[in-house]
Amino acid sequence: MNSAPESLAPCAVQEEKSRGRQFPEPPPAYRGEYQRDRDRIIHSTAFRRLVYKTQVFVNHEGDLYRTRLTHSLEVAQIARTVARALGLNETLVEAISLAHDLGHTPFGHAGQDALNKCMQDFGGFEHNLQSLRVVDELEAKYADFPGLNLTWETREGILKHCSKRNARNLGDLGKRFLNRHQPSLEAQLVNLADAIAYNNHDVDDGFRAGLLTLDQLCEQPLFRQHYDDVHRSWPKLEDRRLIYEIIRRMIDHVVTDLIDNTSAVIALLSPVDINAVRKYEKPMVGFSEPVKEMHGALKQFLHENLYRHNRVCSMNEKTKSMIDLLFGRYMADPDEMPTSFSEQENASDADRARVVADYIAGMTDRFAAAEHKRLAAK
Ligand code: MG
Repeated sequence: MNSAPESLAPCAVQEEKSRGRQFPEPPPAYRGEYQRDRDRIIHSTAFRRLVYKTQVFVNHEGDLYRTRLTHSLEVAQIARTVARALGLNETLVEAISLAHDLGHTPFGHAGQDALNKCMQDFGGFEHNLQSLRVVDELEAKYADFPGLNLTWETREGILKHCSKRNARNLGDLGKRFLNRHQPSLEAQLVNLADAIAYNNHDVDDGFRAGLLTLDQLCEQPLFRQHYDDVHRSWPKLEDRRLIYEIIRRMIDHVVTDLIDNTSAVIALLSPVDINAVRKYEKPMVGFSEPVKEMHGALKQFLHENLYRHNRVCSMNEKTKSMIDLLFGRYMADPDEMPTSFSEQENASDADRARVVADYIAGMTDRFAAAEHKRLAAK
């Protein structure tokens, strides 16, 4: 059964032309294949853990900050709106959006950097590749196959970036990185929906935390433009409400631009099918130049003023020492991990390190902190 709307664009992913699943399965009776992917993602353990994983602010810093789960829901919301407007496969973009951060470590990017350092001699650690590993191998839920056995198209969308070295080990899925081909429009879209979501919610969270001020934000052209409009209409609006109103307008502004610009690009290039999308020299989904510039400037601003803020960085230092200790201890004594991870007879150092990395990457912030406390006291 095909769940795709009738108005699907010819260059969208067509479910009946899917490259299928690694382990063939009979089609679902009342759902489409991408609906089934989405449902498997929602039922996965890794998805439930996202609620206790840091986006920027560590989970215990406050109840109102974004977590990886709420971030993923915001990405899905934005991506679905755009997909529907452009006639792209909405169910597929939802599945990719909900899965795109499944491979993230505890403690946000600091956690990933720390784990990557620990894994330097063993092939490194990269959260994108880990998201794929989660859905391909680590979720042990089905009797017939390892992982979630998702369709090729969902897996393609999850693997946003990949080094050439890793791409060579990924068979068909890695080919596009070697051939410099583009992914589906649905995958391109989720990539931008991700950036739209974090650019906006990080302004909100950064302001809430007192790390970003209104004066600073007003130096950003995108913010300033909407600040002026809102301020003109409601000069006495309290700050919190003002910020919400501005963010709401910024999201609408960039999403509308993304739809208008992409739709113009598609009309101009008129790709006959997804192969034309893949072979084009650059992604077809994108902002207009002025919005690309403002959106990029805001992203840069957040890098400099929020992600590298002293308070965020001091947390990052703590994170690094926690991950270092966990990694060292589990490597030295695998029995400190549950038996499903510790039973590795005759495994090489690299194999053992990968298992340790899988175990640590799967942890929530609070579980990692509790494990750190337990092992540090030994
Ligand atoms: Mg994300």
